[in-house]
Amino acid sequence: MELIDAHAHMSDRAFGTDLETVLQAAAEAGVVGIVTVSENLDDARTVLELAERFPLLKPCAGLYPDVLDLEAAEAMVAFIRAHEDRVVGIGEVGLDHWVVKETNGWEVQEQALAKFVALSEELDLPLNSIPGLPGGTRSGSCGSMARGKCSCTPSMGRRRRPWRG
Ligand SMILES: [Zn+2]
Repeated sequence: MELIDAHAHMSDRAFGTDLETVLQAAAEAGVVGIVTVSENLDDARTVLELAERFPLLKPCAGLYPDVLDLEAAEAMVAFIRAHEDRVVGIGEVGLDHWVVKETNGWEVQEQALAKFVALSEELDLPLNSIPGLPGGTRSGSCGSMARGKCSCTPSMGRRRRPWRG
């Protein structure tokens, strides 16, 4: 059986010393792809570098919704445009009312997400997002959950462009 992990944070420091071992074990277990999201520009650069070294990783570039900065969202849009041939999706993006409790922050999240949705349509790249459920409820888990950040329920939609490699 072949498996694909649709949402992982493989650039997390938790994998700093044993990433190669983890990826080898995953491949031996039948994993043929790990969609690896990023949370900011530095993270996106790291994810692209890792994907060059480890073809099992399928890189996404995105801005985690706790970054309440539309200039940072625009910078990520520009980064994705510049690397659209190297990423398999836009993520991690979304709405997160769990981490951001203030409603004025939710408005910024919505504006940033609108930019990524429009870019997704324009570049024909799927979104890899989290749900931002009213009331701050969410489910799921990933490495970022330990930091109280990620709900990791991906919304990749259908993949319209083939992966490289
Ligand atoms: Zn996540």
